[in-house]
Amino acid sequence: MRKPLIAGNWKLHHSIDEAQTLVHELCEKLADVRNSDILLAPSFTSIPAVAQICASSHIKVGGQNCYPEPQGAFTGEVSALQLKDAGCEFAILGHSERRQIFKEDDTFINAKVHAVLEQGMLAILCVGETLEQRENDELFEVINNQIQLGLHNVNAEQMENVAIAYEPIWAIGTGKTASSDDAAEVHAYIRGLLHGVYSAQVAQNIRIIYGGSVKPDNISSLMAQADIDGALVGGASLKAADFAAIANFPRPLHMASANP
Ligand code: PEP
Repeated sequence: MRKPLIAGNWKLHHSIDEAQTLVHELCEKLADVRNSDILLAPSFTSIPAVAQICASSHIKVGGQNCYPEPQGAFTGEVSALQLKDAGCEFAILGHSERRQIFKEDDTFINAKVHAVLEQGMLAILCVGETLEQRENDELFEVINNQIQLGLHNVNAEQMENVAIAYEPIWAIGTGKTASSDDAAEVHAYIRGLLHGVYSAQVAQNIRIIYGGSVKPDNISSLMAQADIDGALVGGASLKAADFAAIANFPRPLHMASANP
């Protein structure tokens, strides 16, 4: 049974002080939530402070991005090695804001996936279509390319340290959520794809989480879908009460036996 994974992406928000206040509140509110993995991705500058607070909790801290090379003349970049050194256990890679604003392509994202895996951290690979691609019936082709290229040369053993975040771009930060049926269809497609590329076991074990305006009032219907294993939460992760309510979602029946 896959353990749900609820990740907060704080994006470019919060001073170190504000991040510390938020994470203290979250540690308190989430102290009893042991049946999901809880992950937080603060801004780079807040990572060490947040990681220090989380060290005495079950909450894991990660980066929102990283550079593929471990070190060198790459002004302004932060490597997977440095993330690990700062206390990170995962990194979000290929977020649509990185793809769209910073023009990251699948080959570059694939190099980051390898860099994160080499550090023994969890790589959360984000995939998702624009509204135009969905309306032009290109949805599955887009997802297929992003998965195949993003995971190029990642072997079955390494897939134990990979999670996929399906985030339809038109649903991110817009208040629009894919219907749980629409999201479930894409999650099932991704699982089927991974079955074909890897094996039934990899497909069964990998966590495929949903992102796009997840809120306390829509988490239950999303998590009721068999192939949705958690959420990547942007806006709502900045409010302790909302993120705690999302992480504390009522367990649907098919998760009743998930790892405690
Ligand atoms: C995200 O940043 O990955 C995201 C899904 O944002 P939001 O929840 O605000 O739509």
